[in-house]
Amino acid sequence: WNECISIASVLIGAYASYKYYKLCKAQDIPRPKDGVEQLIGNTPLVQIRSLSKATGVNIYAKLELCNPAGSAKDRVALNIIKTAEERGELIRGEPGWVFEGTSGSTGISIAMVCNALGYRAHISLPDDTSLEKLALLESLGATVNKVKPASIVDPNQYVNAAKKACDDLSKEGNGVKAVFADQFENEANWRVHYQTTGPEIAHQMEGKIDAFIAGCGTGGTITGVAKYLKESAKIPCHVVLADPQGSGFYNRINYGVMYDYVEKEGTRRRHQVDTIVEGIGLNRITQNFHMGEEFIDESIRVNDTQAIRMAKYLSVNDGLFVGSSTAINAVAAVQIAKRLPPGANIVIIACDSGSRHLSKFWKEAKQMEYDISLKEITGGIR
Ligand code: PMP
Repeated sequence: WNECISIASVLIGAYASYKYYKLCKAQDIPRPKDGVEQLIGNTPLVQIRSLSKATGVNIYAKLELCNPAGSAKDRVALNIIKTAEERGELIRGEPGWVFEGTSGSTGISIAMVCNALGYRAHISLPDDTSLEKLALLESLGATVNKVKPASIVDPNQYVNAAKKACDDLSKEGNGVKAVFADQFENEANWRVHYQTTGPEIAHQMEGKIDAFIAGCGTGGTITGVAKYLKESAKIPCHVVLADPQGSGFYNRINYGVMYDYVEKEGTRRRHQVDTIVEGIGLNRITQNFHMGEEFIDESIRVNDTQAIRMAKYLSVNDGLFVGSSTAINAVAAVQIAKRLPPGANIVIIACDSGSRHLSKFWKEAKQMEYDISLKEITGGIR
């Protein structure tokens, strides 16, 4: 009798599991994951209703801000670390350090992935980096090395400082593994967008994409997604690089020339872009940009005022609280929409949330009493 009861309870348990499994599948409820790093990717795509209604073109945002550490850089951090593991440069279960020079989200993503996989993160950044990013890095327990803003050719510049710190640890020869993530040149960056972000977008849109719009910091996102959509999925979409003021990509894509930004009297770094927008814009050609340049059809330049107005517009009209680079992409989307037939589809990248930009971009936005009608932002719709 006891055996009968235990067999019955096993069967009932199995039936219940099967029922819930089917229910989750039917309702698209994800199964539990083994660790935080497994939550990276498969981000949602949402229609920006206000812009779609105003332009007659469907404008969607790929919500990379839904990644566990809050940006598209989670994908990059994970792939850089996995690639280092494949090469034996890091060994799971053994002590290892990942070094990076970043003023942006990459450091936060590296710190998160390192913690999840049992490594340590060492992040060099300029000492004018936004307070939120610094606080996040410190809260994640990363070792933070704040350096004075300097030119990329200066050995103390933050990317060079990260590389040097990595070399120094390797030279100590105590057997602790040390890896320089090198997001600008490391091709694990664009490859992860080619392998994941691009296919996700193609799948979510069922291949119906007329234009894809992204900004360019390292170039990893636009290269990986554009290369996948055009080369692999053979979707004939118009790829647009939305560029902030002061960045050289606009000229590079439209006129074939990249220029060096003129250094202002000791206050600005060479190669630095003079904008309050963070994470995008550069005046040099990185390997990650170079790999995808041929797939970019056009660049649209967006100034700070347009970006601020658009960020406010999306917040008020759609409840979408985004960072500055997403706002820039949305301004470019409305301009591209003017040229497309009604019902066409545009996808933009929403790289991170506004909460990471409260002390800088959104502070500025709060202070400005702008008219946030779309007409004011983009100079009229259709
Ligand atoms: N937006 C934000 C907020 C970023 O931090 C970055 C990366 N620096 C980008 C966009 C651009 O991404 P990518 O480096 O892939 O060009």
